[in-house]
Amino acid sequence: MATKIHIESVTKEFRTLGNTHVAVDDLTLDIPEGSFTTFVGPSGCGKTTTLRMLAGLETPTSGSIQFGETDVTDLPPQERNVSMVFQSIALYPHMSVRENIGYGLKIHGVPTAERNERIDEAAEVLQIEEQLEKMPAELSGGQQQRVALGGAFVQDPDVLLLDEPMSDLDAKLKSDLRVEIQRLHQELDTTVVYVTHDQTEAMTMSDQVVLLREGELAQVDPPKQLFDYPNSDYVAQFIGMPSTNVIDCTVETGGGTTVLSGSDISVPLPADIETIQSEHVKLGIRPQYLDVGTTGDYSFSLDVEVIETLGTESVVHGRLDDGSKFDVVSANVDAVSAGDQLDVSFDFSDVFIFDQAGETILFGAEHTKEAESAPTGSSQ
Ligand code: ATP
Repeated sequence: MATKIHIESVTKEFRTLGNTHVAVDDLTLDIPEGSFTTFVGPSGCGKTTTLRMLAGLETPTSGSIQFGETDVTDLPPQERNVSMVFQSIALYPHMSVRENIGYGLKIHGVPTAERNERIDEAAEVLQIEEQLEKMPAELSGGQQQRVALGGAFVQDPDVLLLDEPMSDLDAKLKSDLRVEIQRLHQELDTTVVYVTHDQTEAMTMSDQVVLLREGELAQVDPPKQLFDYPNSDYVAQFIGMPSTNVIDCTVETGGGTTVLSGSDISVPLPADIETIQSEHVKLGIRPQYLDVGTTGDYSFSLDVEVIETLGTESVVHGRLDDGSKFDVVSANVDAVSAGDQLDVSFDFSDVFIFDQAGETILFGAEHTKEAESAPTGSSQ
């Protein structure tokens, strides 16, 4: 039975050689029952430590963890009904695939007939029916990881913890396995907590994404919300490929208008926007929201350095007038080459404005939506 998880003010400190390192810092979070929740963030931000605390392999220094109504903070792993799959594939080399998948069931005394039924079901979803009687050494890396996943799923855990299970696989296997993990999740009544540093995995698989930064919660939201409404420049730059362009701007106010200026980009703000108090802000624009040409509200030109063709669209890596990097994703750059000057433009609805500390102070899309739905004659 899937369970909801509540993490309350959890901190985990490691003490080594007289130094204290805070790996997870006052984390409070709800993971809904039956959801697929992904922890994402750069190396060392505390993802695995959090997962290990959910598994019972680490004890929080302070704070508590609840599964449903039960406080599991100090419960050992075997009393939590969790299964865990790690990045390094741990199969028993002397057992067949069928025996590997069924091992957990066997030690829990599940009768052979029921065991085989559950193994066959998992093997079908994971497309390894043909491999069941083989030995692990006869399988590819992707097939071995499927076996490890099968072994975790057949145990019908309340919580399934997956720690970078795909990081050693090639791109094609990853994309196949992404779909199969989601299919398994749909078939079974389990809360899945997944750890990755790969934001594509986080964005494509999850009901909610938890982005960590140096042990602290940066933002938790469904993938689309995280993409459209990042609460900081850190989130905007971590989520989305290529990264959001962020330009340092000065705020110039005069003659009833406020203009954000950075490099050769100049953004006069819509008249109904309240004055920005600070003299400096950062302007964020996703590469996907830029148009080639000068049709948008604000245009400027880019020195094109490198073009990567992705198939239906290309990534143009360029530089602004002041030398800072700036990327554009577009389907209309077939005739563009390195060394060209490329005109690009964007609308106010495409921007994020961050304060100097990096916190989002304005979403262009939200402002535009509100302005469009305001009654005629109103300034808001
Ligand atoms: P990665 O993506 O590289 O696996 P992560 O986000 O999973 O990173 P953690 O493994 O949770 O990060 O580590 C968080 C921080 O805690 C790191 O700085 C790490 O060095 C430190 N840390 C983790 N485990 C221990 C330990 N047993 N003793 C001391 N420090 C530790």
